[in-house]
Amino acid sequence: MKALLVIDMLEDFVRGKLKVEAATTIIPNIRQLVEAARRAGIPVVYVCDAHEPGDPELQLWGPHAMKGTKGAQVVEELKPQPSDFIVEKKTYSGFFQTNLHQILQQHCVDTVVLTGLVTDICVQHTAADAFFRGYKVWVVRNATVAIDEESHQQALSYMARVYGARVVTTADMLQEFSAS
Ligand code: ZN
Repeated sequence: MKALLVIDMLEDFVRGKLKVEAATTIIPNIRQLVEAARRAGIPVVYVCDAHEPGDPELQLWGPHAMKGTKGAQVVEELKPQPSDFIVEKKTYSGFFQTNLHQILQQHCVDTVVLTGLVTDICVQHTAADAFFRGYKVWVVRNATVAIDEESHQQALSYMARVYGARVVTTADMLQEFSAS
């Protein structure tokens, strides 16, 4: 079983304090993936920063995606549905001190399909932690972005080389989901 992970597609990263220029360009692809996954009965897991004062990361980046604020909300275009899961995290990896692993195990997930922000930080660290736990990792190249294209490409090739990640396109995944 696969699970679709939508990482940090939050107001603060798309339009707010830590805006990633190209973030809006991947929204249509993620939207299609989320809709196709729901239709296919594939778990959709939103992995979201929900910071509290004192989180170590805030010293580096300043306050962002603070729990309970508008900045920490998933963008309206990708609004989670009641059947989806939301995992709140306090640092880059979606697995660190969260229940993501349990949710995936409960649904017999062996492969995580990663989308969202940003390729070389939260996507890459989540990929690492998924690999450590024995999951197969797929990354959707045109449903993830970084601050610049070079960081994006480097992270994709790193994940492929070091975690054996399969780098796929949105079209590939839509086909996969419709066949499952
Ligand atoms: Zn953060």
